[in-house]
Amino acid sequence: MRDQLYINGEWVGADLGGLLDVIDPATGQVFHRVAAGTEEDIDHAVRAARRAFDSDWGKTSGAERGQWLDALADELQHHQQGLAELEVRDNGKPLPEAQWDVGDAIGCFRYYAGLARELDQQQDQPLPLPDPRFRCRIRHEPIGVAGQIIPWNYPLLMAAWKVAPALAAGATLVLKPSELTPLTALELAAAADRIGLPAGVLNIVTGLGTDAGSPLTEHPAVDKLAFTGSVPTGSKIMTAAARSIKNISLELGGKSAFIVFDDADIDAAVEWILFGIFWNQGQVCSATSRLLVQESIAARLIERLVEETRKITIGPGLQPGVLLGPLVSQGQYDKVLGYIDQGLASGARLLTGGQRPGHLQEGYFIQPAIFDEPGHNSILWREEVFGPVLCIKRFKTEEQAVQMANASRFGLAAAVMSADLHRTSRVANQLRAGIVWVNCSQPTFVEAPWGGMKHSGIGRELGQWGLNNYLETKQVTEYIDDRPWGWYLK
Ligand code: NAD
Repeated sequence: MRDQLYINGEWVGADLGGLLDVIDPATGQVFHRVAAGTEEDIDHAVRAARRAFDSDWGKTSGAERGQWLDALADELQHHQQGLAELEVRDNGKPLPEAQWDVGDAIGCFRYYAGLARELDQQQDQPLPLPDPRFRCRIRHEPIGVAGQIIPWNYPLLMAAWKVAPALAAGATLVLKPSELTPLTALELAAAADRIGLPAGVLNIVTGLGTDAGSPLTEHPAVDKLAFTGSVPTGSKIMTAAARSIKNISLELGGKSAFIVFDDADIDAAVEWILFGIFWNQGQVCSATSRLLVQESIAARLIERLVEETRKITIGPGLQPGVLLGPLVSQGQYDKVLGYIDQGLASGARLLTGGQRPGHLQEGYFIQPAIFDEPGHNSILWREEVFGPVLCIKRFKTEEQAVQMANASRFGLAAAVMSADLHRTSRVANQLRAGIVWVNCSQPTFVEAPWGGMKHSGIGRELGQWGLNNYLETKQVTEYIDDRPWGWYLK
């Protein structure tokens, strides 16, 4: 396991910051320590990224960068199982989920390898102009140095979503992983090192948000900030970006609704509702944590939901058969239990779960919880819990369902389930969310845009949109007429 920072193609200790504990969420025990980067380390890393960008990397062709990205994907693939196991120890998630994540991270590098190559074809495309005296071509050029800050819920996958498009575009980067889950990002650096990626192109600085994240957002040589995390931190990052007019993209929180109409298949609904809220212990930005169910099927659906929720196997992520692991940290465990307590105090009815399972006395485990009819203003209904907690409300009409779903300051995702595909598409079009799933919840494809409306963020990741985050668009306009322009010099 790595413990140093990766700056300018070298492994280095933190300048001043000392070490940070890495804790196994299944036991609550420290199992490793990593360097706590500070402002000085960030400065070294940003300068290295700047030099790499200004020298060769910023001038590479898309085809060359595609080769580097494919090589990174190969290298990760070679270590796939070890990476998945490391992710489980660091984050706590069940191993099959971690394996899925690592597979998706590899797929993300391969996908952007393809887009990097396509970029060469799109370069210098002529733009027809209405005035024949001029000729215009459009260039897509890398944005420069990217500062990237990611959360702990999908450590390697979130790193891939940031690093792959940046490299594909020809940007260089400094990535700061979450202090809670730094290990697989360091393995990504190790993979870059093994394939001989030029020094300074990819730099990883572990450390706290205040000590390493904040200086990254303030650094004058950073051109672009890409952030995934909570709304309060996103707001701070936007403020920092505003001070020096940095380009930003923000992927923030959510409180996504799942609308189930009365013609839906109950078992299919139960399956997707469970997947939508309990996957990754509910620590998913797009988790469909607000269930809106049509009144006439509510009793039947809720009964099945509670029955199936109680069957979910909880335990350490490396234990075979486990479907729900521990939350990521003591802080997250306390926060989620705090929400549950506030929900109970506000009169919401707890149908199941919400406590530490009797057989797990250490680690950050909470039984998956379902609350019935919290008030519209209850914190449980309004705020992102980021844990295995589902809230249910009933609706009568389609119009009411859409209104209730949209009555949130968040707008990341939503799901709708019905046998009537006219209705699902009508509802999908009215939902104020960046992602709408029909008759499912959560499937995510690297090809499709990812991001939210309202407080859920600014911009989109993945697909062509993700690449555009790291590209500047330039017009080159030529005067091609033989005659003089003739304005001043008549
Ligand atoms: P967080 O905001 O606490 O931390 C995210 C990152 O920001 C961490 O690396 C942290 O060290 C860093 N950070 C903290 N303070 C900072 C500061 N002042 N300046 C710069 N960096 C700072 O979020 P979290 O608890 O790690 O993650 C959970 C949140 O992330 C949830 O709200 C979730 O919805 C969101 N999230 C969103 C998406 C999405 O795609 N929209 C995906 C995953 C997670």
